[in-house]
Amino acid sequence: MIPRRGLLIILSSPSGAGKSTLARRLRDWDPEIEFSVSATTRAPRPGEQDGREYHFVSEAAFKTQVADEGMLEHAHVFGNFYGSPRAPVQAAIDAGRDVLFDIDWQGAQQITNSVLGAHTLSIFLLPPSITELRNRLEKRGQDDAATIARRMEKSWDEISHWGSYDYVLVNDDLDATEDRLKTIIAATRLRRSQQPGLTDHVRALQSEFEDLS
Ligand code: ADP
Ligand code: 5GP
Repeated sequence: MIPRRGLLIILSSPSGAGKSTLARRLRDWDPEIEFSVSATTRAPRPGEQDGREYHFVSEAAFKTQVADEGMLEHAHVFGNFYGSPRAPVQAAIDAGRDVLFDIDWQGAQQITNSVLGAHTLSIFLLPPSITELRNRLEKRGQDDAATIARRMEKSWDEISHWGSYDYVLVNDDLDATEDRLKTIIAATRLRRSQQPGLTDHVRALQSEFEDLS
């Protein structure tokens, strides 16, 4: 097996389009995929655990981490700060493991434009309709009416950035979207830039070729 470099897989969408559901399915498919656990200054929701959904931090601690270049990207979303800690991502991709990010368009752009951009796969999920997006937020049962209204208001802003992603999928049928995501990831893992071991392999082929001729 040619050793491969880890991929940074970014999933963005308006809230309720299906990111978390699909991220969980991807991890069931390949348990080696790591989730990037973001830091946030927002308060934990019921059921959320520090270090699992997010690292819940104070604004001062967040700003210190940004100043120390400890964040791969960071943004202000819904009135709170969010950021992806750099160290765990670097360790994972150096070891050939992929990292999945559930982040907004601002974070996606920062990572895509960084030195890790060449190892990034960005995917945007669109809902089949705005009515269905609202239905999903309501059915999820996680937010009160005011929060759902706020998420809906923000959804167009997020959707308007669909054009800067590598792939855009309409998450209509969940199983079909999952299959498409797996296909995209499997193909991207085979990009030349993801296989640093190819150079050595071709060198070995060359010396064998010369020995035989
Ligand atoms: P996000 O993480 O993007 O905010 P979620 O993954 O929490 O969205 O999905 C919102 C709700 O919609 C959840 O209740 C989920 O089960 C449901 N859902 C996700 N994808 C689909 C789909 N393709 N068809 C129907 N329901 C879906
Ligand atoms: P929530 O508060 O509902 O968990 O997340 C709100 C929004 O913040 C979502 O759109 C989510 O994708 C985004 N988000 C979560 N973590 C990060 C992060 O580390 N960086 C950026 N840029 N966005 C994030």
